[in-house]
Amino acid sequence: NEYILEVENVKKYFPIKKGVFSKQVRAVKAVDDVSFQMRKGETLGIVGESGCGKSTMARLIIRLLEATDGVIKLEGKDLTTLSKEEMRSTRRDIQMVFQDPYASLNPRWTVERTLLEPMRVYNIGTRSERKERVIDLLNKVGLDSSYAKRHPHEFSGGQRQRIGIARALVLNPKLIIADEPVSALDISVQAQVINLMQDLQEQYNLTYMFITHDLSVCEHISDRVAVMYLGKIVELAKKDQLFSNPLHPYTLALISAAPEVNSPVKKERIVLKGDVPSPAKPPKGCAFHTRCPSCMDICKVEAPTLNEKEPGQFVACHLYQ
Ligand code: SF4
Ligand code: MG
Repeated sequence: NEYILEVENVKKYFPIKKGVFSKQVRAVKAVDDVSFQMRKGETLGIVGESGCGKSTMARLIIRLLEATDGVIKLEGKDLTTLSKEEMRSTRRDIQMVFQDPYASLNPRWTVERTLLEPMRVYNIGTRSERKERVIDLLNKVGLDSSYAKRHPHEFSGGQRQRIGIARALVLNPKLIIADEPVSALDISVQAQVINLMQDLQEQYNLTYMFITHDLSVCEHISDRVAVMYLGKIVELAKKDQLFSNPLHPYTLALISAAPEVNSPVKKERIVLKGDVPSPAKPPKGCAFHTRCPSCMDICKVEAPTLNEKEPGQFVACHLYQ
């Protein structure tokens, strides 16, 4: 199997009541028919504004949430049909790096304990082998053994995120999902953490799903990029294609509004009308039509599907169908 991860027609609908006294139930389509694949060693950037479904996607893959529909395969094995017991052994293969390392680290645990715990839970190695691995991991993420006995509050944000990354690496996962891993850090520290992630990827052939709202971070780290809008992928392409020749009007608007991003299409800033509509009430037809500068009549009634326009570049837009 050439893919590490295959996501096929995945949906996550959250039911909501129409009103306090209403029995009618409506659904928030947080993830709506999303499909993509990932190869070993690549970084897939997932970019979009808050509420576009990118974090929900991550939670579906690690099964913190159950998908309403669709298939999620890790090395060909469908995760959505695994029992709790089977999922327990698979869970170690997918690790997350979170936005706020402080919230995701136990404040009462030393760094050593934080890194030992996953190995203890999965019964890996002897006590002394585990301790050796902790020191090795600390070195890998640019910290040293003197950090082992210290607690999270003694560290800077960047150091805490290095520990979050070390923890994600402990069990040699097949896939690492990083959900806004540098958004809470100062700009200068962001670059250090991203460079660290890239170095580690090169050394250990790691596979990253990198979720961000920041297009320049996305450009820096990704091999391919998926752009999400209201629960759907609207464009999916190799990084160079996406930034040199964006096809979807939303991608174009995002690039035009990102000052650090290099792209030949950036002539003037495209300002979109209004805000992202509520995912509980997405517009009919193309969900982007209420804000799209290129909206046509068909866009208001018919939803476009994601099609391959150029080799490796997929877009969901009637301009190309
Ligand atoms: Fe704009 Fe229509 Fe394309 Fe949607 S389908 S992005 S409304 S042109
Ligand atoms: Mg999020």
